[in-house]
Amino acid sequence: MTEPLSHPSWFTTKKINSYLYLTTEDHFFQGNRSNIWLLRGTARDLIIDCGLGVCNLKKHLENLHLLDQDRECIVLCTHTHFDHCGGAQHFENESKIWIHQDDYNGLRNGRQVETLNYVQSTYFFQQPYQGFSSRQYRVPATKCDPIMDGHRIDLGGGDEVIVLHMPGHTRGSIVCYYPKEKALFTGDFIYECGHGSYLLDWLPTSSVQDYLRSANRM
Ligand SMILES: [Zn+2]
Repeated sequence: MTEPLSHPSWFTTKKINSYLYLTTEDHFFQGNRSNIWLLRGTARDLIIDCGLGVCNLKKHLENLHLLDQDRECIVLCTHTHFDHCGGAQHFENESKIWIHQDDYNGLRNGRQVETLNYVQSTYFFQQPYQGFSSRQYRVPATKCDPIMDGHRIDLGGGDEVIVLHMPGHTRGSIVCYYPKEKALFTGDFIYECGHGSYLLDWLPTSSVQDYLRSANRM
């Protein structure tokens, strides 16, 4: 049972349970609409993926009182595609932003071949703000740090999230395992394929061989 928290102009946030919130960008084409997770850990919080970046996710979560000034918030991007890491730019001054080392250069340098830009005006069912231009949209170079397979994100008091490298969709795709709740956050390694969509393994930095190896590991 989910509990809608608010319906502001761009983001929609739902409380999934006592520790987890899901934010989506419902005015954008569903085929590239990522799940934005806020995991409230014992001592610090973790955001897993941060959306397009056309509106300020940090301000939105602060307005809902889901981010506190006195609690550290870490941002983790499951891979370098625009719909997962575009919003990292709004956290770069105050939060640590992590992405796997094999996708790191794409976000750190805002490289379009790696961040992609599958954005057309028709993908926006509502303008994120007055004067927005989909043609000018891109993921900017964003200050971030590289992580590797097996990295443990300490959320305090023994609470942690474990990063697992699952290349295939991109070179640096990761999934995140939260042992405390036996929860797995999969990014685009695997997702619901309804409405004629399918797993993407043909993108510029995709590899079918890597995908198969990762699937076997999973
Ligand atoms: Zn992707």
